[in-house]
Amino acid sequence: MTAIHLENLTKSFGAFQALKTMDLRIEDGEFVALLGPSGCGKSTTMNMIAGMEEPTSGRIRFDDRDMSGVSMGKRGVGFVFQNYAIFTHMSVYENLAYGLRVRKLPESEIDRRVKAIAEFLQLTPLLKQPSAKLSVNILQRLAIGRSAIVEPAIFLLDEPLSNVDAAFRAVMRTELKHLQRQFKQTMVYVTHDQLEAMTMADRIAVMDHGVLQQTGSPVEVYNHPSNTFVAGFLGSPGMNLVKGTLVEVGGALVVDLGEFGRSAPLSDGLARVARARKASDVFYGFRPEQASMVAAADGLPVFFVERIGARTIVHAGRAKSSVKIVLDNDNGLEAGMTARLDVNKDAVRLFDADTGQAIREA
Ligand code: ATP
Repeated sequence: MTAIHLENLTKSFGAFQALKTMDLRIEDGEFVALLGPSGCGKSTTMNMIAGMEEPTSGRIRFDDRDMSGVSMGKRGVGFVFQNYAIFTHMSVYENLAYGLRVRKLPESEIDRRVKAIAEFLQLTPLLKQPSAKLSVNILQRLAIGRSAIVEPAIFLLDEPLSNVDAAFRAVMRTELKHLQRQFKQTMVYVTHDQLEAMTMADRIAVMDHGVLQQTGSPVEVYNHPSNTFVAGFLGSPGMNLVKGTLVEVGGALVVDLGEFGRSAPLSDGLARVARARKASDVFYGFRPEQASMVAAADGLPVFFVERIGARTIVHAGRAKSSVKIVLDNDNGLEAGMTARLDVNKDAVRLFDADTGQAIREA
């Protein structure tokens, strides 16, 4: 097992800075997801860890070993890409055995390991099949098996599930987590899918525009986003962010929600921090599942009701500002009605409207 240290890492392609700065320590045996939208620098970071790209500045260490100038082959990393690299002229068995043959392991050990990983990834019935005829789902499972079988200390996966269908993706999320628990590798997983990151990772590193925005456990990052980008990127739907102004009313600090036509109270702790910051313009944030809505004549206009199966997303608000609230299916609201919104004070998050940074208790 190996810890990965990324220290003041940057990467430029000509004049374009793909990675502006990155400081991240990934512990031994930890599963970290690099999460962010397309083009934010996830793959660039991953390619530098793998040794496919050299950093423009900064340093990568595996434990106390500096990786500068160390080739990919000598880093001891397993890498699975979005586009599975499989030898289509070989059988499933031979594809799995390949890395072990290169390392000249005894035939009996190769056979033992191939059968074990095939069993783990449910490939046993396919071992004799030519790989050329396999479905995309199975090919990606085979690609994962082929990298995992050599038991690399570091396992890097770059969007490995983006080409597979939704049902299979759900299965693989569980299997990959099991795989990592079994082999205890240090795993770095690149994805733009917040659900994948939330369900699998021990820790999520959220990136945007070549900058690391926040790192933390899935629950920490979800519950306490450090800025409006993270708040909106995590969750489906993301956090509601309503533009507001902090005002004192009768000795209490509240948020005037402008177009929403009402003032929202704050918890004592949040009010104290907001007062100390002397912020005025804010975003009032809350998760869609941490609010309630009931029909009321003086409420917000409901303009869309989206049924998603187990629950319903109610879209409500005014011209420039709207919210999405996740409710039980029997909520009784329909488009065209008006409804009162209630947000639990403890669920409220505040962000500085100018910087987007969270205003929160230390
Ligand atoms: P995606 O999921 O779309 O791959 P990403 O977050 O992994 O997104 P990167 O592939 O790291 O993003 O790319 C970050 C930025 O760097 C992008 O704007 C990309 O166009 C640019 N980039 C990446 N590789 C090169 C290169 N070899 N030459 C020039 N620009 C590059």
